[in-house]
Amino acid sequence: MKCLMCKQSDPRPGLTTVALERGEFSLVLKNVPALICPQCGEAYTDEATATRILESANELEDAGLQVVVRSFVPKRI
Ligand SMILES: [Zn+2]
Repeated sequence: MKCLMCKQSDPRPGLTTVALERGEFSLVLKNVPALICPQCGEAYTDEATATRILESANELEDAGLQVVVRSFVPKRI
């Protein structure tokens, strides 16, 4: 699969940082597994990971936190 942004390189497995903001709530998740383009740095997370990011955001926002920086924790099966 060629990168959709630069259409030059094949994204490779790696880790990225995802930042998300919702009003007063800010979340920075580090070490998120993704396919990363070596050319332009665009990161592609799969659907399960994207879902888990949103779940984490919901949990932390519900807990009343405002600014959170933490490592991504994949769901345990
Ligand atoms: Zn690219």
